[in-house]
Amino acid sequence: MNPCNLQQQLSEKGFKMTRPRKKILEFFTLESGWVTAKSLYEELNTHKADIDFSTVCRNLEALSNMGVLCRVDRDSNGVFAYRLREMEEHHHHLICRSCGKISPMNFCPLQELNASQTEGYSELECRFEVYGYCRDCQSIEHIPRSR
Ligand SMILES: [Zn+2]
Ligand SMILES: [Zn+2]
Ligand SMILES: [Zn+2]
Repeated sequence: MNPCNLQQQLSEKGFKMTRPRKKILEFFTLESGWVTAKSLYEELNTHKADIDFSTVCRNLEALSNMGVLCRVDRDSNGVFAYRLREMEEHHHHLICRSCGKISPMNFCPLQELNASQTEGYSELECRFEVYGYCRDCQSIEHIPRSR
């Protein structure tokens, strides 16, 4: 996606386009991989962006809550990885325990629940990730991925 289009779309939704947000969005539109807050912070600051770590974290949270970014707990340790959303539809991710590859999965367990199971709750949010070994990694020995 063109960074200007994305910025414009967000401004129209009432998202204030601050300088750090611009930098972060620029990064995601140029970079198609997954990054953690820490690696994004380091990346931005090698380019002298002068954005502090808490600002990076806050904006990653805000952008994923708005559905601009996807967020996954890649290593199942509470550290999130983010990327620009790969598909329009609400989706979840399949994660390889060995190589860390992340594939979108067009499925949501929330849609399988019936109304009585979540009775009394509004604004439901689902966190659902599936971990396994991808085809490429099944042929090699399972070596824990270095972090
Ligand atoms: Zn995704
Ligand atoms: Zn793999
Ligand atoms: Zn869902």
